[in-house]
Amino acid sequence: MRAEILDPRWTRPDPPAPVARALRGAVIARLSRSGKYLIWELSEDRYLLAHLRMTGAYLFDPPVDPPHTRVRLELDGGHRVLYDDPRRFGTGHLLHGAAARDAYLGARIGIEPMTPGFTAEHLRQQARGRRAPIKAFILDQRRIAGVGNIYADEALFRARIHPLRQAGSLTRPQWEALAAAIEDVLEAGIDAKGASIDDFRHIDGTRGAFQDRFLIHLREGQACVRCGGTVRKMVVGGRGTYVCEACQKRPRNRRPAGAASAAAAGAGSTPRATA
Ligand SMILES: [Zn+2]
Repeated sequence: MRAEILDPRWTRPDPPAPVARALRGAVIARLSRSGKYLIWELSEDRYLLAHLRMTGAYLFDPPVDPPHTRVRLELDGGHRVLYDDPRRFGTGHLLHGAAARDAYLGARIGIEPMTPGFTAEHLRQQARGRRAPIKAFILDQRRIAGVGNIYADEALFRARIHPLRQAGSLTRPQWEALAAAIEDVLEAGIDAKGASIDDFRHIDGTRGAFQDRFLIHLREGQACVRCGGTVRKMVVGGRGTYVCEACQKRPRNRRPAGAASAAAAGAGSTPRATA
């Protein structure tokens, strides 16, 4: 391949020129994924670890270059893969050797759902003593790999767990329900080819349909599909969060033990409405 890195932010803190030079002539052996990282396995034991963040998308042979093209990869046979990213949060890091790859991912990625180790017991051990809201725990990529905001809301609703529950306070049956719910919503999302509320696109530019199947996310003010109660919106861990407080029983008010994140998460007496 031949790489043209148009935006130096993509490789930060590494400068883009040496990365582009190292990619010249590289052969793509395999593409894989770990957590939210896309792994380009290249010749000579090199790995390009890419993250889309908010608005990134790879497009294969698009008819025209999108206006926010950050990286151009030219492949054999005249094919092109363009990386488009209006908000420029996406990243690409080139690592040499499997050990460097594993160290990089190991520091950033927890247990993968849909693998044998992803059990209620594993999650319960990880959460022992943790006072952070369960939603923040689910979103922490170092704990559970790959679950984003939408999927956390949908999983908690299915498991009937309030997002503000302290992670360490869940019962074994609740961990069982939550582990199953996380895998269910990820599978449903994959079946629907992802959720495209704003930006997500497939490599051929098509959009996902999971947004049409949300049970709770983005349904503020609408009737709960399970009990008919009203879906509310609050902020938990800095993220817009949707909940039916009839189905997902609110935890009793406790003073968050000096945890600024719990206070910011709206652990006070009233949920904060957000715009
Ligand atoms: Zn409900």
